[in-house]
Amino acid sequence: MKIFDYKLTFVGVFFVIATSVILMFHSYKSKKLNSFLDLQTKEAKNRYEGISLFQKDTSSFIFKYLINEPQVIDIFKYAYKANKREKAILSDKLYKYLEQTYIELNEYNIEQLHFYLPNNDSFLRFHKPSEFGDNLTKKRVTIAYTNKYKVYVGGFEEGKLFDGYRFIFPLFDEDKKHIGSVELSYSIKSFKNIYQRAFKNISLDILLDKKIVENKELNNNEISVLNDQFMHQKSMILSGRVKHLNKSIKDIEKVKIKMKKYENFSIAIEHQKDKEVVSFIAISSPISKKHVAYAVSFEKSDYLGYFYEEKNREMKYILFVVFLLTLVLYFVVKFNKELEKKVYLDSMMQIYNRRFFEVYLSESFKKQKRYATNLSLVMLDVDNFKKINDTYGHDVGDKALRALAKVVKEHTRQTDVFVRWGGEEFMLLLDVNLLDAQRVAENLRLSIQKYTKDNEGLPEFTCSFGVISLEGIISLNQAFKEVDAKLYEAKETGRNKVVV
Ligand code: GH3
Ligand code: MG
Ligand code: MG
Repeated sequence: MKIFDYKLTFVGVFFVIATSVILMFHSYKSKKLNSFLDLQTKEAKNRYEGISLFQKDTSSFIFKYLINEPQVIDIFKYAYKANKREKAILSDKLYKYLEQTYIELNEYNIEQLHFYLPNNDSFLRFHKPSEFGDNLTKKRVTIAYTNKYKVYVGGFEEGKLFDGYRFIFPLFDEDKKHIGSVELSYSIKSFKNIYQRAFKNISLDILLDKKIVENKELNNNEISVLNDQFMHQKSMILSGRVKHLNKSIKDIEKVKIKMKKYENFSIAIEHQKDKEVVSFIAISSPISKKHVAYAVSFEKSDYLGYFYEEKNREMKYILFVVFLLTLVLYFVVKFNKELEKKVYLDSMMQIYNRRFFEVYLSESFKKQKRYATNLSLVMLDVDNFKKINDTYGHDVGDKALRALAKVVKEHTRQTDVFVRWGGEEFMLLLDVNLLDAQRVAENLRLSIQKYTKDNEGLPEFTCSFGVISLEGIISLNQAFKEVDAKLYEAKETGRNKVVV
């Protein structure tokens, strides 16, 4: 009879502890990873703002020392009040004067140099000098703003054809009279060039808000596979890594949610065996302050590689430690069980003893009261055992007792409890009614008799049995007393019999 299978329980205990420890470990590691990524986001933002600042400062410098000079003002100050023909002449003059400057600016990533009249009419586009006179009030809020408020404006802005970083400066004549404005701008490609030159091994791409670029005249953008609310430039040189970013992201939905809110954030990805940090920095338009795009940077991270390696290593340690602890716990419990067994086991016969039976029976008693199950108690005693000892010796007596236990075990079920009550007296607890218990006892009586008779090496002996039902019995003492009385009756009336 087994009390419970503690080996299996320990497998369960191991899994429960291992799972909860791993969950805790995971959440600790995610927190660590998130704080690292937050830091990366801050750095990416600083990088982006650094390059923006660099552009702003260089444009201001160029404006101050190369554009806003008396010769240019002298030509341009007549432009706003000139007629069409005069405008063409002035425009041509201005072009010739600044042509060399423009070529050089081009080499420094400045792609556009554009003069505007105070009413936002285009006066001179250096990248397309033949096209002028068109009004850009509606299309170019930054120009309209500078001309209206006569102040500098700069930042990322969408254009009719061109998305880029525009820096617009108001122009005044020597009497401080506002005569128009001039724009210096970098394309996304230029921004990217400067950025990637400044931060080696970090690549940058720009994702444009679909709502803003969708209806552009020049369709040089395509919908991003990562997030269909965004577009990137078609050219691979310009869209670079962002074009295929969706393939490296596990939880795209989470990224989309953050992008919807225009959060600045970073994620960890794996790209060609390298661990990378991808940072998303929201770009807002300089006047409306509305978010219009994302700067997405890709940086290989040795720390991330180390982080995941360490995580795997630590996970193995943790599992190993949990396993060891469970094993130790297992042996402690096993040791306790062995100890318990020693207390409850009869060492000579290797069956439970009286102490165990008293504990067990009181439990069964409670159960019987609760569930009204059948329980019967059988007490048996070897007949004239003293004589066996006296005739064959104590050792043969012991052997006879072990043979008895063997026969009883063979003729009872696993769930039946058989114990040595003391000396050559035994108890058997059966979960059957009185009639069936009587049958079991009778069967045992005959089997013992037959076994000892047939077995050459054993003295022949018989047993007497007392059988009672535990129904209606209120205490253990009463049960023992009653079954003992039945056994006594069997002895008194001739032995080798069952009294119920
Ligand atoms: P009855 O039919 O009335 O039961 O007679 P009996 O001789 O079996 O009963 P009694 O109680 O007079 O004697 C029991 C004997 O059992 C006494 C004791 O020496 C012997 N005995 C008790 N425990 C052991 C044991 O572990 N090994 C051996 N060999 N003998 C034992
Ligand atoms: Mg006896
Ligand atoms: Mg006895």
